[in-house]
Amino acid sequence: MKVYISADIEGVAGVVSPQQCTPGNAEYERARRLMTEEVNAAISGAFAGGATEVLVNDAHGPMTNILPELLDARADLILGKPKPFNMLAGLERDFEALFLVGHHAAASGFGVLAHTTNSFAFREVRLAGRALGEPGIYGAFAGQLGVPVALVTGDDRLVAEASELFPSAETVCVKTALGHRAARQISLDKARAAIAAAATRAVRDRRALVPFVLEGPFVAEFVMNAPALADQGAVLPPARRLDATTLAFACADAAEAVGWMTALSAMSAVLR
Ligand SMILES: [Zn+2]
Repeated sequence: MKVYISADIEGVAGVVSPQQCTPGNAEYERARRLMTEEVNAAISGAFAGGATEVLVNDAHGPMTNILPELLDARADLILGKPKPFNMLAGLERDFEALFLVGHHAAASGFGVLAHTTNSFAFREVRLAGRALGEPGIYGAFAGQLGVPVALVTGDDRLVAEASELFPSAETVCVKTALGHRAARQISLDKARAAIAAAATRAVRDRRALVPFVLEGPFVAEFVMNAPALADQGAVLPPARRLDATTLAFACADAAEAVGWMTALSAMSAVLR
């Protein structure tokens, strides 16, 4: 029974600032440790619930945040980027549960460090007319493979977003957002214990999980943060320019939407 963990850092207990999410300083070195320990809680909970294989994908920024020397030795780990399907690289149809650990709410909403994929590039991402954050977009990609979202952990705003999209999934709220860079935390011990317990329940009761399916074909719309970013993305032949900042792409399915989003995100780097 295979479990896949997509690990982000913004939704980890103890993390509230951009500095903690960016390599090159002492605060980041502490935050990546907190991230690794929360992932360990999810791994141990998954095995306790009946998992026989756990694959962890480091899904934040440079994607080399998790400390392999501290990670539960029973799990395999994907590090680095670029990689196909990004936050869900390596996910296949034979996984029975997807965990989103340390994730965050969508751009243009409230939530600690809320953004969608790239805070510099995107103001909003809509699939089939529906504004979605990373959980919804990647949840739809997993759903296309028949893999249900089983566990989501992060702040209260993320939990609200995930509960609506994935009503059968377990959720763990490790902090309450007081703003984009402030939150009331529960203790690290409580957060990790809650994540482990929810992971166990999610795996044990996996037969009740329902994949999140977004029927294709549909249009993916990317509202960029500035006209120059849309100018840049508009060079892609399939892009349609809807207005100064919005690009639209016809997509057969969520996998194609993830592909365009990843490409636009990477291309935005030249304008930073
Ligand atoms: Zn992140």
